[in-house]
Amino acid sequence: MIEALYYVKKEDKRVLCTLCPHGCRIEPGEYGFCMARKNIGGVLYSENYGKISSLALDPIEKKPFNRFMPGSYVLSFGMFGCNMNCPFCQNYRISRTRPPVETMTAEDIVQIAENTKSRGNIGVAYTYNEPLIGYEFVLDCCKKVKESGMKNILVSNGFLSSKPLEELIPYVDAANIDLKCYDQKTYKDTIGGELKVVKNTVKKMFQAGVHVEVTMLIVPDVNDRPEEFEEATEFLAELSCEIPLHISRYFPARMYDKPPTDIRLMDRLKKIAERRLRYVYLGNV
Ligand code: SF4
Repeated sequence: MIEALYYVKKEDKRVLCTLCPHGCRIEPGEYGFCMARKNIGGVLYSENYGKISSLALDPIEKKPFNRFMPGSYVLSFGMFGCNMNCPFCQNYRISRTRPPVETMTAEDIVQIAENTKSRGNIGVAYTYNEPLIGYEFVLDCCKKVKESGMKNILVSNGFLSSKPLEELIPYVDAANIDLKCYDQKTYKDTIGGELKVVKNTVKKMFQAGVHVEVTMLIVPDVNDRPEEFEEATEFLAELSCEIPLHISRYFPARMYDKPPTDIRLMDRLKKIAERRLRYVYLGNV
């Protein structure tokens, strides 16, 4: 646990976290919405710093990336916590509960990444839970990975404030950003985010030269209207028709028990996306 970046001390030992647009005001002894940042005596701490809940050497396609160093592997780790609250979360165990963890340093991560180069590893992926609420550890790892000449790969919901995003971008080689839906009301009421913030993350990363791919998990009665989906593809195509889009199939999870996404709908959405985008993939099918 280390003192957090991006917060402001307030009266009576309260703090204001400015890492993500939730802007949590946190009382002493309490956590922010993400359950990873805690106010202890008027100081905000990043509680999941180096607390590794999962670590694996994954094929890059599993992240998913289909157009970034295909055929390679990446050392992937997750911590715990999330700053969104999707009822259909497919990673609930580490996102909204406290999983068993192993404590590691950024140096440990880089060492394992180096040791697995011979097995095809190209770098480190920050993934599984929402990595950016463990910003301090991600940033420390990113700096060391960059120094070692390997790649930094981010898999994120993209819900981060502008300043920390700008600080991180120079270290990121590739990012897969989850676009949860294309409707601000659904983002706010169902998911706990903001569409315009996530769009801004995609745009800023792409314009900074990061290799960006986008994933949309299609969830029945949440974001499965073809018209809404088409608007999302228009947004991506305005940036570039070369941005790969992964259309992922939902399966019942957490407190959402609708049946899995209809395969016929997945095929229809793929055809809609292919009108504007060159690289469209179906996932979990
Ligand atoms: S990072 Fe966590 S504590 Fe900070 S504003 Fe976002 S949800 Fe709240």
